Amino acid sequence: MSMTISDEKMILEKAHNLLAAAGVKSFPLRMKPIIAYLQTGNELQVVKYTTMAKLMNVPVETIGFKVGSDEAALVYTGPDKPTTIYYKDVWIPKVRIRWNLGHEVAHFCCGHHLIEYRVKCSGLEMSKATAAHIEAEANTFSRAMHAPLELVLLFMGYYKIYDRLGVFAILRGIFQMSVPASYYYANRIFNRPVRGLFDIEHLRQYLDFYHDFTATFNRAAFAAVQRRYEPEYDMFEKHLNRRVLPDYRLPYQESISAIVGRVLPRSDDNAGLA
Ligand SMILES: [Zn+2]
Repeated sequence: MSMTISDEKMILEKAHNLLAAAGVKSFPLRMKPIIAYLQTGNELQVVKYTTMAKLMNVPVETIGFKVGSDEAALVYTGPDKPTTIYYKDVWIPKVRIRWNLGHEVAHFCCGHHLIEYRVKCSGLEMSKATAAHIEAEANTFSRAMHAPLELVLLFMGYYKIYDRLGVFAILRGIFQMSVPASYYYANRIFNRPVRGLFDIEHLRQYLDFYHDFTATFNRAAFAAVQRRYEPEYDMFEKHLNRRVLPDYRLPYQESISAIVGRVLPRSDDNAGLA
């Protein structure tokens, strides 16, 4: 039940276009500019649970029940009404708020609310397979927003990291993604090929960030970041009750070197992308 490479590539492309349009150039991701961009066309409304509770004069605890989700939901009730994301903004870690928002924005950008609406109007129920596919797409999109694949590969090349644990540390330490999101993303990178998914041109808008980050954290400094985050990987895996051994696949090393070589030619002056 995994996406085809071309489906996945399309999702990454969409996520990249959104980041480019919203002017996102650095990480950790901030959802504010993205939401501001999506709200300018009046395409989308974004409402906090606390705002809704105030408006309705009810306790915040009841909002999850009203919108049909504990933490966040995308609500669409027809073509003439605004599409709204409701999200829980209290009693929940910031990284989780960011992920939830990213996930609902992903549903919106992929048009999942329209699919859901059509199914509902036809009086049918969405199949489990379609629902799972939609969730996989939203998670892939949200991941790509939080940490664009090309940029993750570039950091892997710079820090010479070719295993799941190290990538997990990159996602936690540089992109400040949550433990579960980092875990699944790191595993995605090693479970199936990523060749054919990335577009080096996408790196253009993130190069300043990349250079600033690597200027602050050289390889030795990043080793400390790695040591700090890697234990979380094992803890999460134990919690999932499964064990996947770290993978050191050579082809990754090669394709990453190729990326680094093209993006940062010998002199490190990024002539290739400047
Ligand atoms: Zn969802």
